[in-house]
Amino acid sequence: MLLTSERILSRVAELGEQITRDYAGRRLVIVCVLKGSFVFAADLARHIALPLRIEFLGLRSYGSGTESTGVVQITQDLTTPIRGDDVLVVEDIVDSGLTSAYLLELLATRSPNSVRLCALLHKPARAKEPVHIDYLGFTIEDAFVVGYGLDHAQNYRHLPDLMVVAEGETTRR
Ligand code: 5GP
Repeated sequence: MLLTSERILSRVAELGEQITRDYAGRRLVIVCVLKGSFVFAADLARHIALPLRIEFLGLRSYGSGTESTGVVQITQDLTTPIRGDDVLVVEDIVDSGLTSAYLLELLATRSPNSVRLCALLHKPARAKEPVHIDYLGFTIEDAFVVGYGLDHAQNYRHLPDLMVVAEGETTRR
């Protein structure tokens, strides 16, 4: 067990309160990066007491292995423009940083008023691209984690807790 659902939810509530304070008086667009952040974004949004829109962006960054290549494919784009909006990108985990860096650059080309990044997890040991995380849940060691939306070969996303996958199960890593 890495993080229990209780521990995660209490941190998510804190992040929601901080975001509510920081964006007071503004409208927010949350961009939930699929698939990994769907659970986090759902919990976080319910702790933000502001008018907000939720958009989904489908990304595939890993291909068939578990190592980020930096080649990011958009599998589902936003359904509305974000010009002039205050955008908060909600990511499950920043690992190499390649995916988030690509995504922040892409969204910036659409002329939002602001773009910030909120990530549940950060693995600094594996950083390849420096990414500023405005709102961070937890910093973790270099291990492959599943649960709370995160998968291994599309399994385990529904687990309420975050767990480390046992050595040997990530032979493609
Ligand atoms: P990055 O481009 O930062 O290397 O990778 C980001 C993406 O890789 C995350 O959004 C996530 O989908 C996936 N990823 C990175 N580390 C892990 C991990 O430990 N577990 C799972 N399930 N996915 C991970």
